[in-house]
Amino acid sequence: MSVKLLDGKALAAQLKEALRKEVDALKEKTGKAPVMKSILVADDPAAVSYANSQKKIAESVGIHCQPVSLASDVSQRDLAGLIQQLNDDRHVHGIMIYKPLPGGINYGIVANMIAPAKDIEGTHTANLGKLMLGEAKIIPATAAAVMEHIKSTGVSLRGKEAVIVGRSEIVGKPLALLLLGQSATVTVCHTGTKEAGTLEGHIGRADILVAAVGKAEMIKGQWIKKGSIVIDVGINKVADKIKGDVEFETAAKRAAYITPVPGGVGPVTAVMMMKNIVEAFKLQNQGAK
Ligand code: NDP
Repeated sequence: MSVKLLDGKALAAQLKEALRKEVDALKEKTGKAPVMKSILVADDPAAVSYANSQKKIAESVGIHCQPVSLASDVSQRDLAGLIQQLNDDRHVHGIMIYKPLPGGINYGIVANMIAPAKDIEGTHTANLGKLMLGEAKIIPATAAAVMEHIKSTGVSLRGKEAVIVGRSEIVGKPLALLLLGQSATVTVCHTGTKEAGTLEGHIGRADILVAAVGKAEMIKGQWIKKGSIVIDVGINKVADKIKGDVEFETAAKRAAYITPVPGGVGPVTAVMMMKNIVEAFKLQNQGAK
């Protein structure tokens, strides 16, 4: 059986086209376009580059992306004041704060001040609570991107063994809830699993394996179950190349489906963030479908 490559660029293009049509229909219905505000503090080069690429994708689907640049000596109080102002502004539908923030500002505190209906990262405690209840409209983009890749295979998740390696708030934990929502049997692995020496065993029985660790090729191809779906979220820079968390060449010999790195989860994540802005717009214009 030959492996099928889950091409993130192709999937992202399809999802973007569907989103562009949805935004057009919403504009027709409401007379308004979704607007996101990108808050950048101190012009960190990596944050600026990420914000620019998001702006490009946003504009390509008809979302207005408006950057707000703040000086590096901005206080947490002033940033909180700006968030409050944007929360109250009915012309703003989504708010994103780019990391890193200067030392005196606690990201968790300010990010949680964003109104849940405008929290396009989906990490506000209220949105994570809704995810737990299976009621979330705004979902952490990377976890949503993994689900889109799995959906694109057409394989039903019901009763399948899904193993996630990594339990971060933005990937592993929300993904566990999404997979559970599709009736997969979910196992979440972490450093404790590694220390117990049981990681390889869990991976070996995974019908669906999601790697979100951040360690280049730490999951060996020989561990992968034959015929499985392998989704590699990892982005690791190794000697000017980007590598995933899974040893790709050997894993591709055993898996039925596998995402490449780069070009797998990353491009789809960027579109899912845009989907969150559209969901935020709909939440604030109830009745617009
Ligand atoms: P975190 O560092 O927040 O989490 C890493 C997780 O991996 C932790 O739960 C940690 O366990 C676990 N872990 C670390 N080492 C091991 C090990 N040896 N064995 C088993 N588990 C281990 O990472 P993120 O979730 O933020 O990101 C993970 C990767 O995904 C990174 O490479 C990141 O760059 C990439 N990423 C890619 C995105 C995309 O769009 N493609 C988006 C977001 C992230 P413990 O909790 O015990 O410490």
